[in-house]
Amino acid sequence: MAVDATKAYDDQNIFAKILRGEIPNRTVYEDDFALAFHDINPQAPTHVLVIPKGPYVCWDDFSAKADAAEIAGFVRAVGKVARDLGLVVPGYRLLANTGINGHQEVPHLHVHLFAGQPLGPMLVR
Ligand code: 5GP
Repeated sequence: MAVDATKAYDDQNIFAKILRGEIPNRTVYEDDFALAFHDINPQAPTHVLVIPKGPYVCWDDFSAKADAAEIAGFVRAVGKVARDLGLVVPGYRLLANTGINGHQEVPHLHVHLFAGQPLGPMLVR
């Protein structure tokens, strides 16, 4: 079910549990600001989720409340993961579902990184 992006952070969400090491993940990259791991239900040959370490519900929450170091660290981590996986050529897609209409299901900000095949038009109508 899609989540309300304006709700307070719930530290029992699945990605909070992954960050605390309470449930396993297939880690691709980790630093002080971000964790990247393979999506459990991949929608492309490469489907990695990159999440900030701080408790941010969604892109709106993060962009409004995170400090400059967190924002820079997270954005750099997303780019580094794609670079390290060799995805810059021929390319990849980033997606951050936000709120109900964005169909966000996990209430901890995550950027989807899709790659490994031509990804087609941006949205299917
Ligand atoms: P959203 O719809 O919120 O943008 O995407 C949530 C994503 O999290 C989905 O692609 C889903 O497959 C993934 N996901 C949900 N639970 C888990 C989990 O326990 N582990 C991993 N690795 N991915 C998960």
